[in-house]
Amino acid sequence: MPILLKTRAEIEKMRASGKLLRQVHDLLAPLVVPGVSTMDLENAANAKIATFPGVKAAFKGYHGFPAALCTSLNSQVVHGIPNEKVVLRNGDILSIDCGLILDGYYSDAAVTYAVGPATPLTQRLLDVTKASLEEAIKFAVIGGRLFDIGAAVQEMCEAEGFGVVKEFVGHGIGRSMHEDPQVPNFGSRGKGPRLKEGMVLAIEPMINAGKPEVVTLKDGWTAVTVDGSYSAHFEHTVAITKEGPYVLTR
Ligand code: MG
Ligand code: MG
Repeated sequence: MPILLKTRAEIEKMRASGKLLRQVHDLLAPLVVPGVSTMDLENAANAKIATFPGVKAAFKGYHGFPAALCTSLNSQVVHGIPNEKVVLRNGDILSIDCGLILDGYYSDAAVTYAVGPATPLTQRLLDVTKASLEEAIKFAVIGGRLFDIGAAVQEMCEAEGFGVVKEFVGHGIGRSMHEDPQVPNFGSRGKGPRLKEGMVLAIEPMINAGKPEVVTLKDGWTAVTVDGSYSAHFEHTVAITKEGPYVLTR
């Protein structure tokens, strides 16, 4: 598939979707505390989304995914399924990934939180993964190359001794949740498709405290680290514009 370029008007629709998505994340952030289940978070998200006229949760029903949120705990990398039996405890980390559809336009963003006090290693994993997303966003510019984005993530995270997940990648996004191109979190600078005005990318580093390998559980969704190390995930939907990177999900 070609990389679909969005008009300014389309980007503003995605921005409107992204602003509502940020409201969902802002609602959930203070709820990520010991004793709360991931289903509690799912229910809170659905109640919030129901207040947005015409907005749908993008993940629910996507290839049969059962929920509005992906809630990925500790060694779970992505695509964890909310469950009332999964109750947060001190020392956990939880990735919350959510997407919305507004007037046919998608937004997609993820945040990883520490539950209670974090160990130094866990805190560094969260800080570095988040910083690698911010660094990668700087390369979402006209005339750049696609793999500049992944190279920025890879260089920063591997320098800290962390494992960059290769099996899952970011993606183009627009009137579908997943469009071309794939946006890997690794690669060589100066390589890959030339970045153009109107491309919109979901940039989403998935970084393991240990080795990079992941495996999918028997539920067909939940990806976990092979070595059991914690994994962090941060994501923004970013448009490439004349004015530079435009983060649609802040
Ligand atoms: Mg996502
Ligand atoms: Mg995504």
